[in-house]
Amino acid sequence: MSGYVHPEFGYIDYRPADGESRREKPRLLLHCCCAPCAAGCIERLRELFEVTFYFCNPNITDGSEYEKRLEELKRLGKRFGAETVEGSRGDFFAAVKGLEAEPERGARCAVCFALRLNAAAEAAKGYDYFATTLTLSPLKDARLINEIGLKAAEKFGSVYLRSDFKKGGGALRSKALSEEMKLYRQNYCGCVFSKKRCAEKEETSR
Ligand code: SF4
Repeated sequence: MSGYVHPEFGYIDYRPADGESRREKPRLLLHCCCAPCAAGCIERLRELFEVTFYFCNPNITDGSEYEKRLEELKRLGKRFGAETVEGSRGDFFAAVKGLEAEPERGARCAVCFALRLNAAAEAAKGYDYFATTLTLSPLKDARLINEIGLKAAEKFGSVYLRSDFKKGGGALRSKALSEEMKLYRQNYCGCVFSKKRCAEKEETSR
């Protein structure tokens, strides 16, 4: 991939076109899974774009977890001048029916990414671009996420920017800024299946 690589953290497949720097910054709808992941890329993205956070995570079916992540994202957005827009909660369980027992990084996760990125692609129609913080996690396959993002963009007629925000220390910046702001940092991905798996792991390591 060729594109803009921040000297300190992260990667996004974007270079300002001729003349773009002379007009207003392009508008980017950034799908965010949580505040810590958004923290790993917002500083550099706002140098290039007018960023709006898009919180659309129907995979988080636990109400208090959902609210906690949303509120923390709003807090981060306020600090960096990014508005937070909330997407639809959708029906996660219907989407992943039959895939409940899949391991993390398996077929259920691909459906989960598509659910969120299709919603982001549709919501991004009034924006110049959309991207996702999902590529920041070292536990997720950025290539798969980017493939799904590009397909979603094609389906809804919006423009997806491939990224790999963990590159060049994005994950480290996420951790540092999260600590500085005391952001809530969950220890599982988001769905009830990942929560259960995490609890089991903790139990066996005792
Ligand atoms: S483990 Fe994460 S990516 Fe996979 S289905 Fe659950 S919430 Fe979605």
